[in-house]
Amino acid sequence: MEGSDIAKQWNEVRAQVPADVHVVAVSKTKPVSAVEQAYSAGARSFGENRVQELVGKHEALTHPDSGRPSDYPDLSWHQIGTLQKNKVKYIAPFVGLIHAVEQPALLDEIDKRAAANKRTISVLLQLHIAQESSKFGLSESELTVILEQLESGLWPHVEVKGLMGMATFTDDRAQVAREFQGLRKLFDQFKGPLGWDTLSMGMSGDWHIAVDNGSNMVRIGSSIFGQR
Ligand SMILES: *Cc1c(COP(=O)(O)O)cnc(C)c1O
Repeated sequence: MEGSDIAKQWNEVRAQVPADVHVVAVSKTKPVSAVEQAYSAGARSFGENRVQELVGKHEALTHPDSGRPSDYPDLSWHQIGTLQKNKVKYIAPFVGLIHAVEQPALLDEIDKRAAANKRTISVLLQLHIAQESSKFGLSESELTVILEQLESGLWPHVEVKGLMGMATFTDDRAQVAREFQGLRKLFDQFKGPLGWDTLSMGMSGDWHIAVDNGSNMVRIGSSIFGQR
């Protein structure tokens, strides 16, 4: 896509999504120049699902020898896909938000790497809400266990900000709505006591339904950057 198209698409998405809903521009598979175009148009959070690609783009935009203006102080990188434990160390120095935490062992590793970088890392816990078994995420009972461990102070360098979920890929809008509602119910249950503020649900194809059902963070790729 041409840069001007990306800016136009970003502006359209930003105008359609309610102002109090954060838009993460999902730039996976797209070049660094696409990130720059969306940034110029106003995007500040960028989502990637592969660590190597995320690190590569981060370095391209910040490295002093990159020849780029390296002037993106408020750009935040979001890791949105499944994250392997052994890759956490590569993103720990700079990642803004990790969306898809779905096992306690990953929290152990994120805490360790955050401490080594003298920072706190913000994460979302991914819940399994789809009918499809292929989609990842915690069950409610696994969530309960994690919240107990969290409360006992097990991961002092991790800040859980809320929940993330992906609905079934289906034309059945009622089903998608039901899945998002289930996640919202859990979010509402814990947000007060635990100080959560982020409910990440909705992509290009289903963000309207997600926002109608309480999402305050949508992850939008193809509607901004074109098909992958
Ligand atoms: C790719 C991806 C998105 C964006 O998908 P689009 O349909 O292109 O908007 C959102 N969330 C996750 C976890 C993804 O992997």
